[in-house]
Amino acid sequence: MLERWDKLPRPIGLQKGCSMQISDIQLEQVDKQIKRLIEADNFYGRRLKEAGIEGVSSVDEFLALPFSEKQDLREAYPLGLSAVSERDIVRIHSSSGTTGTPVIVPYTQKDVDDWAIQFARCYEYAGVTPEDRVQITPGYGLWTAGIGFQAGCELLGAMAIPMGPGNTEKQLQFMVDMQSTVLTATASYALLLAEEIERRGIKDKIKLKKLITGSERSGEKIRKRIIDALGVEYYDIYGLTEVYGPGIGINCAHGHGMHVWNDFVYLEIIDPETGEVLPDGEWGEIVLTTLVKEGAPLIRFRTHDLSRIIPGDCACGSTHPRIDTITGRSDDMMKIHGVNVFPAQIEEILATFPELSSEYQIRLSHLDGRDTMRIYVETNGSVDWEDLRGRVARRVKHRIGFTPLVKIVELGVLPRSEKKTKRVFDERYD
Ligand code: ZN
Repeated sequence: MLERWDKLPRPIGLQKGCSMQISDIQLEQVDKQIKRLIEADNFYGRRLKEAGIEGVSSVDEFLALPFSEKQDLREAYPLGLSAVSERDIVRIHSSSGTTGTPVIVPYTQKDVDDWAIQFARCYEYAGVTPEDRVQITPGYGLWTAGIGFQAGCELLGAMAIPMGPGNTEKQLQFMVDMQSTVLTATASYALLLAEEIERRGIKDKIKLKKLITGSERSGEKIRKRIIDALGVEYYDIYGLTEVYGPGIGINCAHGHGMHVWNDFVYLEIIDPETGEVLPDGEWGEIVLTTLVKEGAPLIRFRTHDLSRIIPGDCACGSTHPRIDTITGRSDDMMKIHGVNVFPAQIEEILATFPELSSEYQIRLSHLDGRDTMRIYVETNGSVDWEDLRGRVARRVKHRIGFTPLVKIVELGVLPRSEKKTKRVFDERYD
């Protein structure tokens, strides 16, 4: 059982400044993790041993450690990732198995506690206090969402309202009757709730002050739309099931950059093509190494999330390094007419049109021997659709280098979802 949150120590960040440099403390922690993995002789330990690795004692040795991938973790299914005896595992979580075998992540009691500590810290950075009432809409179950939001909330001492996903009618009823002050949701679901609150004209009946979103990249336009509709402060949480779950970082009141708890994970940004570690400020793929995890430690795990380390110190005084808003995934990259395109680039262009809503869909297809990109966007009836279609297509051509087919639909036609909204459909190889 953990101590009360206000009695727990407040560690400072361990990794001030340059991302290239792992600190001595972190290096020692990684060394310990490697030795534990080898001793446990689990899937990961055997791999390290086969590579002739016994530990790390210098920055260079750390940088020579091999990366690990989700596919590697899949191969350890079901419990091959475990680095402890089965007696010590108190819970498992599993990352979504939309493609192939799921990944099972075992947690010890310390891992569960450490996750709650990180999550409580997220709430604290968002200014949540024991007086707050936190409505939790992410899902419960194998997925590491709802239960993490709840454990952190309880540790902090705020009131958890564990709704789980869906049932918008009940969500709104509880939001009004329980006077929830904090909403936790995916950006898509927050948007759906915001639009529903506007439609019903019940904004003056709700007391929401803060929104904490996670597990989905959200563009500036969606963010602004939700902030305008709900009048809330907007916080983005970072994390992934393989590394505890959501809650390993959050933005502070001073900006979009998310502080990452580097007393629990070591953060690197690499060039996704070459694997080279990039200096602060440069965009690349986030790679994480767990520092104190027991159940399933990970060494240099490639997340495929694209971001950068924001250089310099944050105005809030925290020395935990900041990553920028996640702009996409390195495996989301679409190649069309020889040009590399990320959905975020299309989204950015669409955001420059005030007459379009925040929703869009990208569909790639192969027609008459050519790759084609169709972009579906929403607007209302007061605009000249033909003219808008041309302007959007020309701006994409100008910024990215090819002309998409732009399809305009009535406001509200594109699907809103309670989980992550799928916006890119590649139908070329179906
Ligand atoms: Zn800050």
